[in-house]
Formats: sequence, structure tokens, C-alpha cells
Amino acid sequence: MCGLFAISAKDNIIDDLYLGTFYLQHRGQQYCGLSTFAGDGIKIRTHRGLVRATFTDDLGGLEGLMGIGHTSLKDRQPIKLDSKMGEFTICFEGNIINRETLIEELKKQGHSFYTDSDIEVIAKLIAQGDNFVDGIEKMAGRIRGAYALVLLARGKIYAARDKHGFRPMIIGRRDGAVAVTSESCSFINLGFEIVRDVAPGEILEIDDSRFETKKIIKSDIIQYCAFEWVYTANVCSTIDGISVDIARRNLGAALAKRYPAKVDVVGAVPNSGMGHAIGFAQESKIPYDNVFVKYDYASRSYTQPTQAERDREAKIKLIPVPAKISGRSVVICDDSIVRGTQMKNDLVVKLRKNGVKNIYVRVACPPLKAPCLYGVATRSKKELAAHEKSVEQIREYIGVDDLAFNTVEDLGQAIGKPLDQLCLSCWTDKYRV
Ligand code: SF4
Repeated sequence: MCGLFAISAKDNIIDDLYLGTFYLQHRGQQYCGLSTFAGDGIKIRTHRGLVRATFTDDLGGLEGLMGIGHTSLKDRQPIKLDSKMGEFTICFEGNIINRETLIEELKKQGHSFYTDSDIEVIAKLIAQGDNFVDGIEKMAGRIRGAYALVLLARGKIYAARDKHGFRPMIIGRRDGAVAVTSESCSFINLGFEIVRDVAPGEILEIDDSRFETKKIIKSDIIQYCAFEWVYTANVCSTIDGISVDIARRNLGAALAKRYPAKVDVVGAVPNSGMGHAIGFAQESKIPYDNVFVKYDYASRSYTQPTQAERDREAKIKLIPVPAKISGRSVVICDDSIVRGTQMKNDLVVKLRKNGVKNIYVRVACPPLKAPCLYGVATRSKKELAAHEKSVEQIREYIGVDDLAFNTVEDLGQAIGKPLDQLCLSCWTDKYRV
């Protein structure tokens, strides 16, 4: 996961660039970076850590009428390259499956590599083009995988989304400014109106606070990442025309219809289970309440770089509310169960310690069966609870009274997209691209 933001405006964009990138912090918390273009060239600053914690008041002297920003789970971006088309900075989200093969091919052509990162491969492939649009198109023809990218050249921004549409990207406009971002949550407080999503395969040129489609690379296979609506995206975002909040409520309602539970209260694993839990509560007419609260100063556990750090953060972040638990039967809604260890070693222990009567767990997505090849993979197949265990075996392993997952069909219906337009590889273990 990563977040991308780009803006072109008639006035200095630095405050909007900073905030637009900040509102994508939930997509990556390990590194952040900003790059701007002004008359004296392209400047770039990257940091390890959070946007607000690492960019000081003067933002390192960045300023200009256009810029790009990045939040990352994995590596430091944007990166800067000098090419025959001039200097440029670039950042991306996704995963290049054939990266190693491409690096070998490029080395044979005489290229040297500073890192073995996806972004360096992408930048070097683009730099081979006759111009940036041609370079992006040529890059797209050689890579296998998923990407969304923004590129800042001298006086122009380019934004592109892979032809299958795996990773989201959306265009917004405000008087005198145009921007693209991974998620529309960047736009809301900045006063941008949504124009439309960047289409799968589209390459945009942005300058002088306007945008223009330069190319659309067509594909018969559309694969919007279903996990965006289940977990990844912010609840106030709209992804490819579908509100994340509504999709999550639909997922919770589908669970309540298919797997009802006679309980006293519906709670969530906050924050990402909250929309699902509200949907479950509304459909079943059982009160929703804070069974767990997320401590505001903890991080998003999924975006920690190692499993040990993810486990530690998961344990720290959730605090049970004893008054809502003691002597009561509860439904706990979560977005997914990955290994099941957090549920077993933390949540169930905390509920039992606080005198819970019965624990029903309802999971918004189907059992996870495979790692993601199209983003930053944080788990291997054999780590997944559902890889070898049945639902009943997982229930026994985590130690709850009842457990149910949404079906793939209910997942598609809750999101509101045809199943063949959704990437479902996490659950089907089949990769169409
Ligand atoms: S494999 Fe899962 S996380 Fe990866 S793109 Fe597909 S649905 Fe999204």
C-alpha cells in the first residue's frame, strides 16, 4: 500500500500538497516524500516516518505551482532521475511481478541500478521513451503487475493507472487547481470536487491547473482491488464510484442476513471493522456499541513493516470497554482474519478477562487464501489461517463460540461491482493477470 497525490495550481501549491499527502497517511506510514517544481527546477524531500512528524513548518524550502507527494509502507519515494527528456521525480503504488527479469534485461542494456526497487525499474523504463507519455506506455507494455503513478517533470505532471485498474486514482478540481490522488479523502477538507476516477490504462498530462487524457491503454480484464472497500481505503473515500462507507455497511448487513446472531451488543475491531459492525447492527436491529476502542495514538497495525511489529502494534492499539462486555453476548465484526493470532492471543483474551458470555465473530471478507501479488505483500500463503484450516478449525483455533465469513458472491454484491471486474485473488488464489 502507498498513497499518491499530485497537484497543479495557479498559486503556490505547497500547503495543499502537504495536506493532500497527509490525508493518505493511512496507506503507508514508513516513509513519506514531497517534490515540487518551481522556476529553479525540481526539488525533492523524503523522510522516514509520518508526514506531520517529519516535515517541519517551512517544508524544507519546497514551493512551486505543481508538485507530487507519496506515503509509503515500503520505500522512500519519490525518486529523482535525470534523462534525455530532462530531470523528473516519480512515485508509485503497486507491485512489479517481473521486476528481477526486467532488472537483468536493463543491466544487459548498460543500465546500472542504485537499488532493486520497483520504482527504479519503472523510472528507468519510462526514461527510455521518446517523451513521458511514450515512456509510460512502453513501461506499461513491459511490466507484469499493478501500478498507479505520478511523475513530475519540468512544468508538467503525468498521472497513470495500470490497464486493469488494480490501484485507485481519482481526479479533483477546485477553482484554479487540479489534483489527482489515490483516494478522494484527500479532497474533502481541501475543498476539491471530484471530477472522475482516472480510467484503467489512462495516462493524464496535468499543467497550468488543467488535465488532459493523452492515452488510454485498453485491456479486456478489469481488476479493481476488492480489498480497498473492505479494509485499505479511508471510510470517507469514494473508490471507482462506490462509497467505502456504504460498501462496508453492506458487507455487515450481508453477514447479519446470512449469519444472524442472538446477542446483546454488536462491536467492532476498530477502526476498519466499524463500518461492517454498524451495517450488521442496523440490519439485525441489535445495538452497536464500543466493545473495543482504538487508542488514538497507536498506529495502523497492518502498515507496520514486519510481522513482529504488526503483532505488537495490534496488541497495543485495542482497549476493551469492560462495562460493555461483562455478562453479555457480543458480536465482534472485523474486516478480515489473516493469521488469527490477534483474535486468539489478544481480542479473545481481553473479552474473556472482562467476563464476556459468548463471542460471535463475523468477518467482512471471505477466508483469505493467498498473498497479494499486486501490492506490498505482508503475508505468505502458509501464514494464512484459512490456507489449511476450515472455518470450524479456525473457530476452534481462535477460541470463539461462533465464526462466519462473507461469501465471495456477497462481497461482490456489497461492493456493487460485477465479480469479473474485481480482483478477488486474496480469496480465490487465482491470479488473472
Ligand atoms: S490480491 Fe487482494 S489485496 Fe491484492 S489486488 Fe487483489 S484483492 Fe487487492
